[in-house]
Amino acid sequence: MNELNQVVFANIDEQEPWTIDSYIASGGYEAWKNILNNKDDSHKPENIIEIIQESGLRGRGGAGFPTGLKWSFMPTADTQKYIVCNSDESEPGTCHDRDILKLNPHALIEGIAIAGYAIGATIGYNYVRGEFMDECYPPIENALKEAYQHGLLGKDINNSGIDFDLYNFIGAGAYICGEETGLLESLEGKQGKPRFKPPFPANFGLYGQPTTVNNTQTLASVPMIIKNGSKWFKTFGTEKSPGTIIFSVSGHINNPGNYELPLGVPFNKLIEYSGGILNGKKLKAVIPGGSSTKVLPAHIIKDCTMDYESLQGAGSALGTAAVVVIAEGTCMVNLLKRISRFYFAESCGQCTPCREGTGWLYRILDRITNGNGKESDLELLVDVANRIEGNTICAFGDASAWPVQSFIEHYHEEFEYMVKHKGKTKAA
Ligand code: SF4
Repeated sequence: MNELNQVVFANIDEQEPWTIDSYIASGGYEAWKNILNNKDDSHKPENIIEIIQESGLRGRGGAGFPTGLKWSFMPTADTQKYIVCNSDESEPGTCHDRDILKLNPHALIEGIAIAGYAIGATIGYNYVRGEFMDECYPPIENALKEAYQHGLLGKDINNSGIDFDLYNFIGAGAYICGEETGLLESLEGKQGKPRFKPPFPANFGLYGQPTTVNNTQTLASVPMIIKNGSKWFKTFGTEKSPGTIIFSVSGHINNPGNYELPLGVPFNKLIEYSGGILNGKKLKAVIPGGSSTKVLPAHIIKDCTMDYESLQGAGSALGTAAVVVIAEGTCMVNLLKRISRFYFAESCGQCTPCREGTGWLYRILDRITNGNGKESDLELLVDVANRIEGNTICAFGDASAWPVQSFIEHYHEEFEYMVKHKGKTKAA
């Protein structure tokens, strides 16, 4: 069986898959229409939530939280509720949501509508990363217009008694707007600064109302699950990590790009799909789930399967499934400095450990690479990272600490060498 493109991109080989005609011709909007035409109550909101829970679908935005369970947290009280799609894809290395927005926007719109219906929301917002203004916003906005023209959204849709309106929203251009409560703040017109939790968005979300925030890929997976059933979805992937996921493969690889594959695909097979390591070099390391996840040396990742459990067992995480391939000869000190610069620049500044600590991390790494490092710097780096981890409002703090901890753990010698040799690299 062809392993590629079975769920989110199942219709991707159709002609102009981004148009509504193409999407409908390949079976798109069937799940939503079945809900709208439901005569026998078999598509009640609670049934939809149950199907998603049974499917084992987990959030694809990085945290991997079970989607159906998240939906079930929404209060049943009769009040205004919102569904919000997080299309603020910003994690370095990650580029699958932008392909969904461009190539299969109707799968996303259908998924948001179904999710909104399931949780009792009559209004949805799709928060699109500011930098996607030129490339991704026009196709998703155009698709939204098509969905309205076909009578698939609006008030009392098709005399079903179901109301659902959806709006695209251009984000504010900060990494932290991808954190769900930072996103909600930004959507409300404020600075995108994460909120203290609890309360969680299910109780106090957009404008203080119950809100569910799901990632783009998560929601784009929903129509096929509702259409084909949870058992069908579980035929892909592993028992604990069912379904498919889109791997964004980048770095030292011959064919970088997005590959939708069943979870649990062996790492070596993913590398084969991506054309092998660039210039026939040997693999040195991999960052398996976006820059926020811990680096794994080649001897560890080579035996891993690409799923939540295997990568966690190996000491890292699947994250956003953004696989950054690092070939032999790469200087891990310079690479870490580059990553740390990113977190220093993107901290929202609310928490002292994150605001000050990310600056410390970057400046220490900068002086090491400039030949001014001290012997005590490696210990200091780990100490600062440890003081950030777990001591901040949002997970950004951990994300800035984990690369430092893991790079120094696995490549200590390279850091030591650079300090001793005044900025000279020992990359192998
Ligand atoms: Fe802002 Fe960093 Fe605190 Fe998150 S951890 S709220 S990004 S300062």
